[in-house]
Amino acid sequence: MFIEGGFYNARVISPSGVYDYGHGISAVDSVYDRREQTAIHLLVEDGRAAVIDTGTSNAVPHVLAALEAKGIAPAQVDYVILTHVHLDHAGGAGQLMARFPNARLTVHPRGARHIIDPSRLRAATIAIYGEAETRRVYGEILPVPRERVVETPEGATLRLAGRELLFLDAPGHARHHVVVRDSITGHFFAGDTFGISYRELDQDGRQYAFPTTSPSQFDPPRLHQSIDRMIGFGPEALYVAHFGRLTNLTVLAADLHRIIDAHAALGERHRRAGAERKRLLMEGVRSLVLDESARHGWRLPREKTLEIFALDIELNAQGIESWLDSEGKQE
Ligand SMILES: [Zn+2]
Repeated sequence: MFIEGGFYNARVISPSGVYDYGHGISAVDSVYDRREQTAIHLLVEDGRAAVIDTGTSNAVPHVLAALEAKGIAPAQVDYVILTHVHLDHAGGAGQLMARFPNARLTVHPRGARHIIDPSRLRAATIAIYGEAETRRVYGEILPVPRERVVETPEGATLRLAGRELLFLDAPGHARHHVVVRDSITGHFFAGDTFGISYRELDQDGRQYAFPTTSPSQFDPPRLHQSIDRMIGFGPEALYVAHFGRLTNLTVLAADLHRIIDAHAALGERHRRAGAERKRLLMEGVRSLVLDESARHGWRLPREKTLEIFALDIELNAQGIESWLDSEGKQE
């Protein structure tokens, strides 16, 4: 059964949490921290499928149910495509690959070793969240056998039942980030490179975008460049992991550029704030969120808006700190 699902051109199909965008493209809600926070995208062409980003291990049942509802058996999945190896995008890769006997996993060359041996990703996550919380949020993170991993450097292409996908190197959010252009639609799968955009804040059909600068490889000039590269292709739509399909992209890109500059300026302002720096950066990012709320006329109460952005405010502040600390050290 198809149900019209709101003003952003998505149709919600059974099972709930699957958003069909047409052209064989859909999103599956990974139900990461809350609903409509993190999407896993599916691309289906002529009975073959690609899963683009995986969510965490906890999202595996949602992906399998969505594929089943589309009549796609696990053996018909040809690719698991990772935009980058942050665990909310890649944590479930090992478990999904174990269920897809014919699939290969594609990843940026800088991310491949972390997928083959996820111990460093896991340790880095435990360092931030602790052991118990890491297990609760991410489940068991399985390695992917090396022979099933395909690296996708700048300019790489692959075919899904004849439908060509082009990979572009897209640093700025992370140095292990690719964006993927679909030849049929010209749309991009942008991962985290085009920011975050939660649907509950859309206003009368108008979308917004806010950069995600999470640690530890936020790089403002490169993020500007990666956004402009996608926009240079003139896509009508792109798909972000947080959350789903975005249109009116030149307007959103201008917003992203402005807010990225504001993040960089915030970092510069508090560069030498010592022990107070973390707190001042958190307050600064919170103010940037509230500035956007006023600019867009978001109707949600201020407390609800801050609740929706709570994790991003913390991660963006941490990412600004990483950027300040790493300047001059980046390769
Ligand atoms: Zn990320």
